[in-house]
Amino acid sequence: MTAPTPGGPRVLLLGGTGEARRLACALTEDAGCDVLYSLAGRVRDPRVPPSCRVRVGGFGGPDGLAALLRAERIDTLIDATHPFAARMSASAATAAAATGHPLLVLRRPGWRERPGDHWQRVPSPPAAVDLVERFIPDRRGAGTVAGGDPPRVFLTTGRGDLALFARLDRPWFLIRCVEPPDPALPPRRAILLDRGPFDVDAERDLLRRHRIDAVVTKDSGGSMTAAKLTAARELGLPVIMIDRPPVPAGVDVVNSVEAALRWLAGCTDAG
Ligand code: NAP
Repeated sequence: MTAPTPGGPRVLLLGGTGEARRLACALTEDAGCDVLYSLAGRVRDPRVPPSCRVRVGGFGGPDGLAALLRAERIDTLIDATHPFAARMSASAATAAAATGHPLLVLRRPGWRERPGDHWQRVPSPPAAVDLVERFIPDRRGAGTVAGGDPPRVFLTTGRGDLALFARLDRPWFLIRCVEPPDPALPPRRAILLDRGPFDVDAERDLLRRHRIDAVVTKDSGGSMTAAKLTAARELGLPVIMIDRPPVPAGVDVVNSVEAALRWLAGCTDAG
């Protein structure tokens, strides 16, 4: 563990992603920052950067966050949360505007459709539920007859959105999440507790073994969980892709750890 340079810039880093951990390490070990790394506390055994202070739990909305920014004498706020952590991002933008703190959002790029993919983009998790409700599997050439069989769906939207699917009693779901889900779940399902990175061979095998007809996922981006998309392409399976919520207006956004480090260097020079 490298001790932060005394007097280095004080950064509050909103984490919960691989990029946040990488940025935290680079900021403390190479850029001499004093980083307070913040987690929501959703995961029992979170991966935390070894070289910075860690705090866990919500701030109590924008006012609580603004109070912490002042109390900790933070210089810069960096939001490196998951692309779907919309409430936290909105709260960070509101708090930074209120206190005058510089704010940077680090968002990894979303996934892009490739030749051979059969994606249907939807704007929100409820729209994905509607689409799954109407979904009729196309099993030509798969050795089974569609004949009104319920669809078999691989659901990887994360624990927070599963309750929305609970009203769907016809499809069978293979639900994969990191932590055990809350009880509001679709009635016909199997739960798979697992955390990436996943590889293509294992994902292809999983989709085949469970005779999956369609994949439902959020456009999280990144390489840790992208293998399911390659496997779905190889097997000719449709993917229902939930679009990201927008980043708050007027906020600086970068899409890589390296760009975040450049932004912070510019910020520090300007200061
Ligand atoms: P969210 O809906 O935007 O956040 C809900 C509330 O949780 C926030 O208003 C805030 O509480 C608290 N919170 C969220 N992130 C926090 C952080 N880094 N530090 C302190 N408090 C935080 O977000 P979410 O979807 O629940 O995600 C929670 C965390 O899990 C995020 O940090 C995110 O990076 C990570 N994560 C999310 C997903 C996903 O699919 N959403 C996937 C992987 C990892 P207060 O209002 O009380 O401040």
